[in-house]
Amino acid sequence: MEKGNVIAIDGPSASGKSTVARKVAAALDWLYVDSGAVYRAVAWRVIQNEIDPSDQDAVATHAREIQANFFVESGAVLFEMAGERPGEALRREAVNRAVSPVAANPVVREIVTDWLRGMRELGNLVMEGRDIGSVVFPEAAFKFYLDASPEERARRRHAETQEGLSVDAVGASLQLRDQIDSRRMTAPLTVAKDADIVDSTGMTIDDVVAVILERVRLARET
Ligand code: C5P
Repeated sequence: MEKGNVIAIDGPSASGKSTVARKVAAALDWLYVDSGAVYRAVAWRVIQNEIDPSDQDAVATHAREIQANFFVESGAVLFEMAGERPGEALRREAVNRAVSPVAANPVVREIVTDWLRGMRELGNLVMEGRDIGSVVFPEAAFKFYLDASPEERARRRHAETQEGLSVDAVGASLQLRDQIDSRRMTAPLTVAKDADIVDSTGMTIDDVVAVILERVRLARET
């Protein structure tokens, strides 16, 4: 199959998108893309440069100067930003707090959307995010919107974090991010009109992966 095909997997924080998208990509031998990591990396650069994440002009000026380099490694599209690979720093609470205001910045969205669209040159993509099916690749052949109850999402994210926060604190941080992501003016979190909604509450990761692969298989057969 030629490159440039896209499976978009959107949904709120901790809805299981990353694990599911990674497994779907591995099963199809397509490239996994974590678009949230790209927004996190911009937020990480903003923090490193001691810029206030809500200072729209300063963030926009800085974002325009970032040199990003994308490449394929271990079945995923990874990147260097300003010559560095941010790694685990992207998951810190400071980045969690900064990322939604930074991602709400229209200039940041324009820059990151261009980067994400450019990744089609690297292969077939399974890309997870908030606006992949609605804005980045509205023409994507496959669009899924993954959801789960707020309680389940808080439990899942709590199990992953290593900063000693309570489940309630993790839930509150997720809720705040969801609110900003859903209410922002540019490319808010929304269900693309032709997306398949999958509610993963009470489902295992493998169940969700199986549902997605089956829908892709059926669509490719017809
Ligand atoms: O997916 P993750 O939780 O790592 O995303 C971090 C943040 O990046 C989100 O809360 C959102 O503000 C932003 N984001 C976005 N659009 C995307 C992916 C992520 O605005 N496509």
